[in-house]
Amino acid sequence: MADQTFKVDLTKPLVFQVGHLRASYDEWVHKPIIGKDTPRFFENDFMELMTRTVWWVIPLVWLPVASFFASSSARAGIPPCHVAAAVVGGVFMWTLMEYCLHRFLFHMKTTTYWGNTLHYLLHGCHHKHPMDALRLVFPPAAAAILAVPLWSAFKLLTPAPYSPALFGGALLGYVVYDCTHYYLHHGKPFKGIAHELKCREITWTITSEFSTRDLESLPLCGIGCSELSLRESPRKLADYTTTRVHDLS
Ligand SMILES: [Zn+2]
Ligand SMILES: [Zn+2]
Repeated sequence: MADQTFKVDLTKPLVFQVGHLRASYDEWVHKPIIGKDTPRFFENDFMELMTRTVWWVIPLVWLPVASFFASSSARAGIPPCHVAAAVVGGVFMWTLMEYCLHRFLFHMKTTTYWGNTLHYLLHGCHHKHPMDALRLVFPPAAAAILAVPLWSAFKLLTPAPYSPALFGGALLGYVVYDCTHYYLHHGKPFKGIAHELKCREITWTITSEFSTRDLESLPLCGIGCSELSLRESPRKLADYTTTRVHDLS
């Protein structure tokens, strides 16, 4: 049942408050606070530190790991051109995984205390504070926890000598995705629409028309979280963003 009376106190650590919003959480989380401030998530300093990640940590941590996995296939005797092809295949596998994660997990509707809390930590915080530069890329400690079962799945589902290169490719795809997502928010992606991009929550996925077509069917969640492909031309992107801005005003 919706707790209409509960109000989140933005001056206090947020994570253990948002669950109390119950059915009101979805509406609350999609009313973004457009500001570059980094709100406090946890009272505990260590927990708080684990939620703050500067963008360059992502390539710094994950590119060596991706290289290690890809080279494992080479050490297992796979020819270099096959390793390269498997890495490219892994990037495409990441694309599919990213789409599914965002579509089905990150935009899941939750109403329970722990459902809301987990959703906020996973993705909701990015919708609430889209310009918080330290909460945009995924913290490596959390990503490492997810990477373990994922590696097991790769080993189970793909031919053994190719598994490491495919997994390395997926990690490479993840690095490119997270850095590009950061750049779309905090860089200067396309002249003329930078303002809209900065004022609107834009979530992009590495992919393709697959995601872009689907975005039209996605519910426009308050501020308009959108899946944008870099294949979109700047003009089309500008039209798209402007349309959404007008739709929402
Ligand atoms: Zn975003
Ligand atoms: Zn989103």
